[in-house]
Amino acid sequence: MFANVERLPADPILGLIEAFNKDTNPNKIDLGVGVYRDAEGTTPIMRAVKEAESLLLQSETTKAYIGSHGDPAFGKHLLPLVLGQQSPLLERASLTQAPGGTGALRLAGDFIKRIDAKKKVWLSNPTWPNHQAIFKAAGLETASYRYVDTESNQLDFPALLADLKQIPQGDVVLLHACCHNPSGFDLNQQQWQEVLAVLKERELLPLLDFAYQGFGEGLEEDAWAVRLLAEHLPEVMITASCSKNFGLYRERTGAFIAVAATADDMEKVRSQLAVVARSNYSNPPAHGSSIVATILGSQELRPLWEEEVTEMRERINTLRQDFVKALEPHGLAEKFACVAQQKGMFSYSGLKPQEVERLQKEFGIYMVSSGRMNIAGYNQQNLEYLCTAIAATCK
Ligand code: PMP
Repeated sequence: MFANVERLPADPILGLIEAFNKDTNPNKIDLGVGVYRDAEGTTPIMRAVKEAESLLLQSETTKAYIGSHGDPAFGKHLLPLVLGQQSPLLERASLTQAPGGTGALRLAGDFIKRIDAKKKVWLSNPTWPNHQAIFKAAGLETASYRYVDTESNQLDFPALLADLKQIPQGDVVLLHACCHNPSGFDLNQQQWQEVLAVLKERELLPLLDFAYQGFGEGLEEDAWAVRLLAEHLPEVMITASCSKNFGLYRERTGAFIAVAATADDMEKVRSQLAVVARSNYSNPPAHGSSIVATILGSQELRPLWEEEVTEMRERINTLRQDFVKALEPHGLAEKFACVAQQKGMFSYSGLKPQEVERLQKEFGIYMVSSGRMNIAGYNQQNLEYLCTAIAATCK
C-alpha cells in the first residue's frame, strides 16, 4: 500500500522556516512563523506559567484521565474569561476542553457534521489556511465571503456584508473574534452590530474563532464581539485557544464553547461533544489546562499573567507604530499606515509576492508570500534594516 502513496507538498511555512535556518545572512529576519517573540527574538515561557508549573509539580497527585470534557476547573475559569464574569450566558453555555484551538475547531466541525452534514461553513477570504483543511477533514463543505480588498489592502466591509446576506439560512459563518489572521483587520463595534443584524435576520449560526484574546485591545475588550453575539443570538459556537495568551503552544490547550438557547439544549449539545471528543482522542491533555486553571484561580498568579499579556500586546502595538514611523523618511508611511491600525500579531502589509521574494533573496527577510508579516518577528534593533529593505524593494 505504501508504495502507491502520493507524496504531498510540505506546508509552505515549514519551507520558509527551513530556508530561513539555512540562510547565512547575519541580518536575516523571520516574519513568517506564527508565534509571539519578545525583544530578544525568543518565545519564552511566561512567568505565571512557570510558577503554576512549579506549584503543580508539588501538588499533582495523579495522572488519571480527566474525562472527555476535560478538567472541570479549567472550564470553570475559562468560560467566564470568554463570556464575562457573572454573565447570565454562563447558565446556558457549555465548555469542552480541546487540544488547542485547532482541536476545538475540529470538535466544532465534527459536531456540525453529526447534526446537519448539509450545513456549509463560510470562511473569510483570506483566512487562516487551516480552517479550510479542518472542516474538509470533518467532511463539511466550505465556502468564502469577501473580507479584504487586495487592491487597496483594506477591509472591504460592504463586500463582507453583501456576501453574508447571500448565505443560505442556517449555514455556519466562521468569524475571527479579534486579531484577524492573516490580515490584522478587525471590525469596529458598529460593523459588528451590522453583522449581528444579518446573522439574526438570516438565522445564520456563528462560529467565533477566538485565538488571540488579549492581543488586540485587552482581555475584556477583545471579548466584546463574542459577548455581543452570544447575548443577542439564540445559539453561538466559540473556539478558544490558550496557545498565544498563555504561551502554551505545544501544550495544546483550547476549548469548544456552545451557547445554547436554553440550559436543556446546552445539555443535549454537551452530550454530543463528549461523544465527538471520545471518538477523536478520548481525553484532552491535562498539563496546559491545569496551568490555566491554576493561574486563573490564583490571586497572585492571575494579575501577573494579566500583566504579561499586557506586555505582549503593548510590545506588538508599539512595534506597529514604530514600523510606520521608521518608514516616514522613506516616504512610505502612508502606504503602510494600515499596519499601525491593524490588530494582533499579524499584518497584511500589502507587499506583493514579487516584493516578498526580493526581500527574502536580497535581504534575508522572510514572510508568507501573501505579504503577511508576524509583527512580533522584528525588534527595535533590526527595524531600521527592515524598513530600508522594504523601501529598496518598493521603489
Ligand atoms: N485560529 C486561528 C485564527 C489561529 O491563528 C490559530 C493559530 N495559529 C488557531 C486557531 C489555532 O491555534 P492552536 O491550535 O495552536 O491553539
